Amino acid sequence: MQITQFWDACLKQFKDELSPQQFNTWIRPLQVRADASSLTLLAPNRFVQNWIRERFLARIEAEATEFFGQAVAVALNVGDAPALLPAPHPAEAPPTPVARPASVKAAEPTNASSLNPEFTFENFVTGKANQLARAAGMQVSGNPGAAYNPLLVYGGVGLGKTHLIQAIGNEIRQINPGAKVRYIHAENYVSDVVRAYQHKSFDEFKRYYRSLDLLLVDDIQFFNGKSRTQEEFFYLFNTLVEAKKQVIITCDTYPKELTGIDERLISRLGWGLTVALEPPELEMRVAILLNKAKAVGRVLDENVAFFVAKHIRSNVRELEGALKRILAYASFHNQEITLPVAKDALKDLIAVQNRQISIENIQKTVADYYKIKTSDMHSKKRSRIVARPRQVAMYLAKELTQLSLPEIGANFGGRDHTTILHGCRQIAKLKDTLPELNHDVNVLLQVLRG
Ligand code: ADP
Ligand code: MG
Repeated sequence: MQITQFWDACLKQFKDELSPQQFNTWIRPLQVRADASSLTLLAPNRFVQNWIRERFLARIEAEATEFFGQAVAVALNVGDAPALLPAPHPAEAPPTPVARPASVKAAEPTNASSLNPEFTFENFVTGKANQLARAAGMQVSGNPGAAYNPLLVYGGVGLGKTHLIQAIGNEIRQINPGAKVRYIHAENYVSDVVRAYQHKSFDEFKRYYRSLDLLLVDDIQFFNGKSRTQEEFFYLFNTLVEAKKQVIITCDTYPKELTGIDERLISRLGWGLTVALEPPELEMRVAILLNKAKAVGRVLDENVAFFVAKHIRSNVRELEGALKRILAYASFHNQEITLPVAKDALKDLIAVQNRQISIENIQKTVADYYKIKTSDMHSKKRSRIVARPRQVAMYLAKELTQLSLPEIGANFGGRDHTTILHGCRQIAKLKDTLPELNHDVNVLLQVLRG
């Protein structure tokens, strides 16, 4: 069969490119299923799923498209649930919609909540980066439909959006087991709309969604350009909010920056409370690592945790990935988890990160962003127009590089380390009171981290 041939060819390529250990850990465990128009990969767990999604899915899709000579959507799920049923796993929904054969009858979307019980408030580590969002989430859990409606959580990839909103769902179900809760990834909602279209079952579709007590829609940026979906969702949203049913939404950017989404909907999203999840600072990253290790029954030395946290800065998902890598590496080589072992396990990852972020890169990026000259980073000019961006660059240099304050100072026209410290503190403080500055810093962080 063609599909077997395709997958064999794929396996062979990956085998050539990856180390045996990587190949065995990530690629070999994948199972492949197919029907006429789609291909589904099954990963043994969420961790492999995330990793494949981030690094290989696009590639596999391209290979498949080439092999079959037509566009092939590759879905990536967890476990060995049948690939063609809705929401096969309570974990985060797969990002790629699967074309459904016409023989599958239009069914009312599943009544199950689709919540992953592992996403709870208890195992959601708190720090400055998520304090506000978490507090808002707790309030909503205690007072659904009344406290903040909708609750909109935004933040970059891997910062805990899905975890947080599912924690709210789980909490509400705990308090009120009868509550009708539904978590859905925006892409699956789009698929539901498409299905309702195909089967002319909009009444059923509407009845189902309007009967919910709590609706969680994840990654609403996927509504981009889908105007029929947006229209349906707009009315659903209004109906639920008017009936004091809680709606919780996530997206990956500040809502006003969403593209391809109707203004009306965007403005409506802002009616409740909008909270950000930010990249965790060092201490929080350490706490997360210690917690995650504990959750799998391992004790992590603090110096190992600090080492990892200092090098893996972008988001929690990467942090988890690094930890798993170390655990796998240590058990594979039958060694204790020591600093040298951790360093070895993360060698490749760290090389990539370090290459990306240099202080010159930071200064140039910040200067471009604020439309000032890069030379102003070194100059003595004190007008607000250059001084603030310069401080932002200092702050980012401290966050993103391993340089000491005096070293950073040397790169900013020979400034004293106390000036750098003052600059960093100033930005850290102002960020809390000036949403615009906060936004600038987050955008820059994301850009620089690539
Ligand atoms: P997002 O939806 O924003 O991309 P996720 O919610 O999927 O991110 O989080 C990625 C991973 O990181 C998940 O495994 C999640 O459990 C974990 N995670 C994120 N934030 C935290 C946190 N504050 N404490 C513990 N784990 C977290
Ligand atoms: Mg998510």
